[in-house]
Amino acid sequence: MTTETDDYKRYICKVCGYIYDEAKGDPDSGLAPGTRFEDIPDDWYCPDCNVTKADFSPFEPRAESTDAVSAASAWSGPRGDDPDAVVIVGAGMAGWALAERLRELDPRRTIRMITADSGDYYTKPRLSNAFGRETALDELVEEGGQQRAGRLGVELMPFLRVLGIDRDRQRVITARGGIPYGQLVLATGARPRHIDFPGDAAAPLSVNTLDDYCLLREALEAPGKSPAETPVAIIGAGLVGCELADDLARGGFPVALIECAEQPLAGLLPSPMSRDLAAALENRGVDLRLDANIARLNKGESGTTIELQDGEPVQAEVVLSALGLEGQNDIARAAGLDCGLGIRVNAQLVTSDASIFALGDGCEFAGRLRPYVETLRDQAAVLARTLCGEVTEYVPGSGTVQMKTASLPLNVCPPRDVTRGTWVETESTPSGRQLEFHADGVLAGFAVSGSLARRAAELETRLGQPVGAERPRMAS
Ligand SMILES: Cc1cc2nc3c(=O)[nH]c(=O)nc-3n(C[C@H](O)[C@H](O)[C@H](O)COP(=O)(O)OP(=O)(O)OC[C@H]3O[C@@H](n4cnc5c(N)ncnc54)[C@H](O)[C@@H]3O)c2cc1C
Repeated sequence: MTTETDDYKRYICKVCGYIYDEAKGDPDSGLAPGTRFEDIPDDWYCPDCNVTKADFSPFEPRAESTDAVSAASAWSGPRGDDPDAVVIVGAGMAGWALAERLRELDPRRTIRMITADSGDYYTKPRLSNAFGRETALDELVEEGGQQRAGRLGVELMPFLRVLGIDRDRQRVITARGGIPYGQLVLATGARPRHIDFPGDAAAPLSVNTLDDYCLLREALEAPGKSPAETPVAIIGAGLVGCELADDLARGGFPVALIECAEQPLAGLLPSPMSRDLAAALENRGVDLRLDANIARLNKGESGTTIELQDGEPVQAEVVLSALGLEGQNDIARAAGLDCGLGIRVNAQLVTSDASIFALGDGCEFAGRLRPYVETLRDQAAVLARTLCGEVTEYVPGSGTVQMKTASLPLNVCPPRDVTRGTWVETESTPSGRQLEFHADGVLAGFAVSGSLARRAAELETRLGQPVGAERPRMAS
C-alpha cells in the first residue's frame, strides 16, 4: 500500500544539482517539510544557484555506478573505426552536457567518450554542501555512467586515460590502443593546485572529484569518533574552502580555516562583504586564521600539527587543501596545442587545431578560465552546434558566482577591471548588503549578500546600464 508519505517525490535543479525533496521541504526558504513541488510558488528560487522552479525536473535516482572491472571487460579495445566520430575526452559535467546537447541535434553521429574515471554522473557543486544537507554518499551519483551512455547513445570508455594525441593521424592514444576521431573535444577539467609544504605529515586531502570527496568523508567519519572529536583544518579561504568550512562547521566539526590574505575571498569580494563573510563564518564557529602563513605540516600525536609562521599552531585530524584549481591541459600541451592558463579556444571553442575543441574548466577563453557550471552549459550548447556545422559563437555570461555558504549566502558578479571604477554600497540592512560596481557611469558588477542575495537575477539584467546620479557611498 502506498501511503501519502511514500509518495513524496524529488526534483533536481538542472543547473547546480540541488535536489528538492518534498519530504524535507526547504525550511530556510519557508517551505515546510511535506510541501509538494506543484505547491511551491513560482517565485521560489533554488537555494544554491538562484534559478527558478522552471529549471527543475523530476529526479529519478539511477545510481548503479560503474565498476572498473566490469567496465573494462565491457570495452576491450577500439570497435568501429568510424573516422567521423566525435570523441570527447572527459566525463565531467562539461563532457556529459556536450554529449547530451549533441545527441539532441544529431541522433546518428558516433559519439565516444573516454574518461579516466567511472563516467558516473554527479554534479560537483553538491560536494561542498553535502554534509550540511545530510546527503549520503550514494545519493551523490545521479546516474551511472553506463546508464547515461545507453540513454544518450554514447560509447563510454571509462577508466581509460588518454595519453596523447596523434594530430596527423587524428587518433587519441590510450593504453588500450589508438582511437580515431573526426572531431576531438577536450573536456579534461581542472585539478587542484598543490603546494608542497615542508614537514613530515601526510599530504592534505583536496576535494575536486567525487572520489576525493569519498576519501574526505571516510576520514571525517572514522569509526569511534564524533564530529566534535574530529578537528578539521582547511588551507585556503577561496570559494571551495569557505563553502566546505561552513558546511563542516554546520555538521559539528571544529574547523580552522587558514588563509594568507587578510580576508576570506579577498580576490573576489569587495571588502565589506569579505568582512561580513568572515564574521558569518566565525559565528558559525569557524576558527578563522587570516594573514597566516604555513611554516610546516608535521605529524602530530594524532593527526597533523600545522605550524604557522606567526601565531598558535593548529591541530587537526583531517587537513584539506583548497588552494584553487589549474587547467588540466597536459595532453593538449604535449600535442602542441596553444595553451596558457588552460587550452586556448576561440569563440567557436576551436583550439589551435581546427579538428580539436575544448570546453569546461580546462579551457581558456579571452585570457580567462571560467570554472563554473554556467560556463560549461553555455559552451556545450554552442559547441554542439559548431560540431553540427552551424557557426555559433560563445559569448560569456555575466560570470555571477553563487556562494553556497549557508551562514551567509552571497552572489557576486565581479567587474572585468576592478581598477576602472568604484564599489558603491547601495543598501545595507542587518540581514544583507548590496554593493554595485560603477564604472564610467554604468553598472559593471555587483555583490549581494544574505537576504538581498536573490537580487542577483534582477541586477544581471541591469549590467551595462547607466547608474543613477546619486552621490555614491564609497565602500572600503
Ligand atoms: C567542491 C566544488 C564546488 C563547486 N561549486 C560550484 C558552484 O556552486 N557553482 C558553480 O558554478 N561551479 C561550482 N564548482 C565548479 C564546477 O563544479 C566545475 O566548473 C565543473 O564541475 C567542471 O566540469 P568539467 O567537466 O569541466 O571538469 P571535471 O569535472 O574536472 O571533469 C574532467 C573530466 O576529464 C577527465 N580527464 C581528465 N584528463 C583525462 C585524460 N587524460 N584522459 C581521460 N580522461 C581525462 C576526468 O576523469 C573527468 O572525467 C565547484 C567545484 C568544486 C570542486
